[in-house]
Amino acid sequence: MRFKFLITSICFFLLSSCHSSSTLMASGTIEAKVYRNYKTLEPYQCLTFDDGPDKVQTPKVLELLEKYRVKATFFVLGEEIEYQKDILKMIVDAGHDIGNHFYTHINIKKATEKEIKNAIESNNALIEKVTGYQPQFVRPPYGIVTDALKKVCGELNMKIILWNKDSKDWDKTPDSEIIKYVLNKPSNGDILLFHDGSKTYTNTLSALDVIIPTLQKKGFEYVTLSKLFAA
Ligand SMILES: [Zn+2]
Repeated sequence: MRFKFLITSICFFLLSSCHSSSTLMASGTIEAKVYRNYKTLEPYQCLTFDDGPDKVQTPKVLELLEKYRVKATFFVLGEEIEYQKDILKMIVDAGHDIGNHFYTHINIKKATEKEIKNAIESNNALIEKVTGYQPQFVRPPYGIVTDALKKVCGELNMKIILWNKDSKDWDKTPDSEIIKYVLNKPSNGDILLFHDGSKTYTNTLSALDVIIPTLQKKGFEYVTLSKLFAA
């Protein structure tokens, strides 16, 4: 009986840990899971935009998303929100997800748990104050993941989101190259990295103006990260 109970418990733990955003470590600490994509049966693609909100670029991105009636996720910086509260509200009002890209764009390689926690929590508080929205996703600046980050996000019950396709729009990549790369072997649950910060280049928009309708014709649907993880 005891053996059967143990097996049942292990199965339950494995099942529940598959569906939770964190993992209980042997040390007793809870570590957040890191996602580069999320395989689903649904033909979902997730567009993510980092480094905004920006008063020029973000409205242009929102206009493009509206043109194709698609939803996306914006990983915003607290220091940008301070000046662009109306733009943040526009994102939420349009039905997109908001993710946390820290208060400032720091490199967390050497940051302490406390510094990381402050950078995430202060941004969460600001986002909630401005929009009432509570972010569930964190994207660390530069995509750097450390043990301290996993621990902090585990405590905050937030998922760490990276990407499996980097458009490299931040590197002045020509739109023809972005298009070719993103359209090559699209899969269910792809997470694509784009930018809508002040340093973003126009190639982001011209590339997406081709990518979105092309993949829609192939049956793909662009959804928020919340919808992806609920699939
Ligand atoms: Zn960034």
